Amino acid sequence: MAFDFDLFVIGAGSGGVRAARIAASHGASVAIAEEYRIGGTCVIRGCVPKKLMVYASRFSDAFEDAAAFGWRFIGEEDRPPSRTPAQPPILEEQDRAAARGGGRRADAPIPVTFHWPTLREKLRAEVSRLSSLYRANLERHGVEIFDTRAEFAGPHEIFLVAEERTVTAEKILIATGAAPWVPHNVPGAAHAITSNEAFELNNLPRSIAIVGGGYIAVEFASIFNGLGVETHLLYRGAPILRGFDMELREKLSQALSARGVNIHTHAEVDRIERCDGQKVVHTRKGEELRVDEVMYATGREPYTFDLHLEKAGVEVAPNGAVKVDAFNRTSAPHIFAVGDVTDTPVQLTPVAIREGHAFADREFGGLEVPPLNIEGVPTAVFTTPEMATCGLTEGQAREKHGDIEVYRTEFRPMMHTISGRQEKMFMKLLVHPETRKLLGAHLIGEAAGEMIQLLAALITAGATKEQLDATIAVHPTAAEELVTMRTPS
Ligand code: NDP
Repeated sequence: MAFDFDLFVIGAGSGGVRAARIAASHGASVAIAEEYRIGGTCVIRGCVPKKLMVYASRFSDAFEDAAAFGWRFIGEEDRPPSRTPAQPPILEEQDRAAARGGGRRADAPIPVTFHWPTLREKLRAEVSRLSSLYRANLERHGVEIFDTRAEFAGPHEIFLVAEERTVTAEKILIATGAAPWVPHNVPGAAHAITSNEAFELNNLPRSIAIVGGGYIAVEFASIFNGLGVETHLLYRGAPILRGFDMELREKLSQALSARGVNIHTHAEVDRIERCDGQKVVHTRKGEELRVDEVMYATGREPYTFDLHLEKAGVEVAPNGAVKVDAFNRTSAPHIFAVGDVTDTPVQLTPVAIREGHAFADREFGGLEVPPLNIEGVPTAVFTTPEMATCGLTEGQAREKHGDIEVYRTEFRPMMHTISGRQEKMFMKLLVHPETRKLLGAHLIGEAAGEMIQLLAALITAGATKEQLDATIAVHPTAAEELVTMRTPS
C-alpha cells in the first residue's frame, strides 16, 4: 500500500519537531500537524517564557544587594534621609497604574517598581521568534506542516480537522504532550488560572495563591514573589517538592519562606469564591485567603483528548497516557509516542527531545540506539535560590546501597559577605562506599542548574569521588567546593 508520507507526527512540540526533522534528514517524507503554535509547551508556555520570568524576578535581588556594593540611584544621595532608600521614586501616575501592584513588599527598601506589560510584550516577542525559527527549520528540512488539529481516523489514517481531509502515513508519532490538570471536585477551581495563563495576565496581581507543591507551583511562587506579588503557596503535604531529596526540600522551603513566600502546608483547598473582584480561597482547615488571583499547578495530564486512539489500536493507561515500550513503540507496532503524552515517569523537555531523536534514528536512519536511561537525568527547579539534582536521593541511595558516604557543605556565598544576605549555598554528594562512584548530587544556590549539568556528566560517566578530589579547584567560585569536600558527614 502506498502512503502519503513515511512519517506523520501529531504535535509540534520539542519531541515531535526533533523527530520530524531527524527523520526528514534521513530521507523520509515527513508531515507534522500542530493545532496551536509550533514549539509546544516548552517554547510557547513553559520552559522558555518561565525562565525569562525567572530572570525578571531576580532583578529585585540585584537592586537590594547593589546598595551594599556602593551603588546609588542618581539623585538618591540628594534626597532628604526620610525618603531614602525605603520609598519609591516619584512615578508618573500612568506608570503606577501600569505597574498594577508590581511594587516590592512593604519591608523591602528598593526605590524601583516593576512594569509587567513591558515583560509580557518581550515574552510574546521571544516566543514568536522561537516559534518562527522552529517552523523555518522544519521547512528547511522539507517537512510538510499542517496548521491544524489532527486525529486518528484509522491505523494509518490521520484526519486533518481544519482541512476536512484524511492523509495516510506508514508510521505515526504521537507527540501531543500534556496539559494542566485542575481537580474537578473543588467548587470554584474554574475561577483559577493555570501556568498556561500566567504568561498572558492582563495585570500583575497584587496577591496570588498558588495551589500545588511541584515544580510549576514552586517556580511560579518564587517568580511572583520576586516580582513583588504577595504570594501564598498552598500544598496538601509537607515539605514541598515530593520526590526530591528530603534535605533539599526542607532547605528550599526555608529559603523561600525567608524570602517572603507564604508556604501553607497540609493545606487542602475546600472551595474558591469570588468576592468584590477578588478570590477567596477556603481551606479544609478553615483558613480563608483573600487574593487577586488563584493559580492551580496540581500536575499535568497527557493530551490525548479526542485523538481517537482507539481507531488505531493504541492502548492508554488509566490516566490517559499512551503506553509505550523502552523504544517508544505503542501497542500498535507502526505507531510511536514520545514525551509527556506517554506514561514516562520523567516529564522533561530534554527527555522528549532525546526520545524523538532516537526514534527517528532507529526507524529511519537504521541506527541502533539503546533505550534512554532515565536514572541519570539531571533536573533543576528554577526558584530563587535555585535547586538542582541528579541521581539518587539520600533516602534512595541508603535503601539501595546501605551505608553510603555523604559529603555536604553549607556556606555563605562570597557575594553575600558584602551584600549582607543571609542565604546559604548547600551542596551534597552521595558516594558508594565500595565502588567510590558518585550516586547523587544535590545543590541549592546560585547557578545550581548550571553546575548540575556537569555533575550529571560525571555521574553518567561513572566518575568516582577520588576523581573529583584529584580535580584542581577554580578559585574563587562556589563550585570549587564540589572538588574540595574531604570529610564525609
Ligand atoms: P508535579 O507533578 O510536579 O506536581 C503536582 C503537585 O500538585 C504536587 O505537589 C501534588 O501533590 C499536587 N497535587 C496533585 N493533585 C492534587 C490535588 N488534587 N489537590 C491538591 N494538590 C494536588 O506537577 P507540575 O504541574 O508542577 O509539573 C508537571 C511536570 O512538568 C513536572 O513533573 C516536571 O516534570 C515538569 N516541569 C519541569 C520543570 C523544570 O524542569 N524546571 C518546570 C516545570 C514543570 P503531592 O506531592 O502530594 O502529590
